[in-house]
Amino acid sequence: VTLSGRAGLSLGIDIGGTKTFALAVDEQGVPLASARTPTATGSIRRFVASAVAAARTVTGELGLEPAELDSIGVGVPGQVDPVAGTVRHAVNLDLGPHPVPLAAHLRDALGTPIHLENDVNAATLGVARMFPEAPDDLAFLSVGTGIAAGIVLGGQLRRGFHGVAGEIGHLPVDPAGERCECGRRGCLEVVASGAALARRWPVEDGRSAAEELFRAAAGGHPVARSIVEDVSGHLADAVVLLALTVDAGLVVLGGGVTEVGTPLLDSVHRALRQRAAAVPLLADLSLDRDVVLAPDAPVGAIGAAIVARRERAGRSRTTVVLHEATGA
Ligand SMILES: [Zn+2]
Repeated sequence: VTLSGRAGLSLGIDIGGTKTFALAVDEQGVPLASARTPTATGSIRRFVASAVAAARTVTGELGLEPAELDSIGVGVPGQVDPVAGTVRHAVNLDLGPHPVPLAAHLRDALGTPIHLENDVNAATLGVARMFPEAPDDLAFLSVGTGIAAGIVLGGQLRRGFHGVAGEIGHLPVDPAGERCECGRRGCLEVVASGAALARRWPVEDGRSAAEELFRAAAGGHPVARSIVEDVSGHLADAVVLLALTVDAGLVVLGGGVTEVGTPLLDSVHRALRQRAAAVPLLADLSLDRDVVLAPDAPVGAIGAAIVARRERAGRSRTTVVLHEATGA
């Protein structure tokens, strides 16, 4: 492979609270190789090393050095400053209010320009790619360990002024609810996330609380049915919130909890129709028709690779500075 042949390769890394998934794509965005490693937390050094391991496993499979890649995009939970290449406030990763220069750490270890993006924002770009017919205004509602939304308006990702646009998981929805890691009580995340379901419907290690909960509800278990109704109602309210704040023409549900599939989607649709029945404005919006499930694909890593390729194509100031810094 010539250097020019390798020049079109990008890597997307999706860093989650427990796993890191890396995916290499060619110039057309076609996946070439991927790897999954456990995410190490507890120290920045160990955390960076686990992302480096994922990247090196993929490039090793392709017979390359990471420095031979054109660029690497990284999706990471928390408040990300894509220009400074820093992340902070990522509770699952033990990152506090102090900005961690993750892009610089990874660039030093891998010798490649690094572009950081919030993980849900990156996944939103991946989702938008998979719905090419979607309206220019769409939202991705990620229901995993936590809950957050990514927002695309006019075809552009909206990070917001502070980079926290879409962090709706921390809107309090139940004043009597349990305390949230953010410091408040009864956040959406505390009642309807994957972590919340695991608390509300405890299962054996290695089993999916969401799947077992929905199975029990389908079997007629009254407690399971009431939890499903409550969770679906909160998710429907999150969809209404996105409709009434940014008027998304399509809301895509993704994240671990949505692996439940059709039973979850049907339940959210039902809750949306109940709300529409009482509110003519909502009835006009026909929200239940515009809520779909994300495709079964690693949208986070795909989106991170899109971030990398877009930055490279844009030759933004950030990219130029990073190129100079690595001497590339
Ligand atoms: Zn909270």
